[in-house]
Amino acid sequence: GKAAVPLDIEPSRLTVTKTMSPKVLPPSKSLIFGKTLSDHMLRIRWTEATGWEAPSIEPCESYRFRRNFYRYVSSYVLVGTINLSPSATVIHYAQSLFEGMKAYRHEDGTVTMFRPDMNMKRMNTSAQRLALPTFEGNALLECIKELISLDRQWVPKEPGHSLYIRPTLIGTNGTLGVAPPTEALLFVITSPVGPYYPRGFKPVPLHGTTEYIRAAPGGTGAYKLAANYAPGVVAQKSASKQGYAQNLWLHGPEHWLTEVGTMNLFAVIKDKDVTELITPPLDGMILPGVTRDSVLALARNHVSGVKRLEGLPDVMKVSERPINMGEIIQSSKEGRLIELFGTGTACVVTPVDRIGYNGGDVMIPTGKDGMGPVSKPLWTELVGIQTGVIKSDWNYVV
Ligand code: PMP
Repeated sequence: GKAAVPLDIEPSRLTVTKTMSPKVLPPSKSLIFGKTLSDHMLRIRWTEATGWEAPSIEPCESYRFRRNFYRYVSSYVLVGTINLSPSATVIHYAQSLFEGMKAYRHEDGTVTMFRPDMNMKRMNTSAQRLALPTFEGNALLECIKELISLDRQWVPKEPGHSLYIRPTLIGTNGTLGVAPPTEALLFVITSPVGPYYPRGFKPVPLHGTTEYIRAAPGGTGAYKLAANYAPGVVAQKSASKQGYAQNLWLHGPEHWLTEVGTMNLFAVIKDKDVTELITPPLDGMILPGVTRDSVLALARNHVSGVKRLEGLPDVMKVSERPINMGEIIQSSKEGRLIELFGTGTACVVTPVDRIGYNGGDVMIPTGKDGMGPVSKPLWTELVGIQTGVIKSDWNYVV
């Protein structure tokens, strides 16, 4: 007979099991990033033989009261967890990748996700890199939409707050051989988060890091793999011990700037009348950030006149090109370095005020309220879109 074609993710097969013990929403002020998980999670299993199985929304890590009628004792049991074989490939060979995006609640109650199609695309690219199964991005998005709808009250109302969404894909088959996974689990958990800078923008100092690397040519830096993050922890600890907030990952003997901690990087340099917004190109070492892409698009729309942004310099140039520490130091000395900032879903924009480098500090100008003349208007526009104040087709309504 004909071999059955393995199935793609099928939103119409989604089943929903609601939690029997809803959790108490923590007060918004006390939110710690990723600490509290909302009531439900999405789960989709995959096997090589069957393809993607029916998606299910289930309780996520909650304690259920259980009374034993025979012994008159009662207890709480933890439900909504993940069981794995001790030989699951995710544990031994890091067959694991993830995404990070947010749902925002607008003033009128609408809940939207910001450019989630980009995250679906990146997740599939990451999956391909690990020989994990790929899927139809829109199908997963449909399921995530159901999850967010069900946990709607978990999307915080306060300005600057949001619901962080963490899709994850892991290899689950039990085997100690290094091989493409034959079984996998895709799950999505969510967590309410507060503003990254509750007391306004605070520029951070970076440690120009050369003794550790995050990515290398031909490596996996361009993919959102779990394996890229574990080795960064000691590097961050080391930077922190020396008084710096994050690592500025420098590549090669020329000390090319790549990324900042877990953010993309932008520099602004003035040359005569032209203000140049620079970010390193997607050369395989840079994670293609959704915020990076959005900042580039907004700046390019300003330059082309599609949409001028108030406050941005009149004459601007947008460049995806390599930039090294030599250029940063030179332009800083000549007073042409305007600002440097990181971008990412968590913070949107993080201004930088100095770089620890070669035993000294390279000072970076910052604006009076912490943000520079280019990052501020871009940040205002981006946050305006995300919070629904500015209409945009980048918003995906839940
Ligand atoms: N670089 C790295 C290494 C990251 O982990 C992230 C966070 N996903 C980013 C950049 C920023 O990407 P995004 O704008 O999509 O959040």
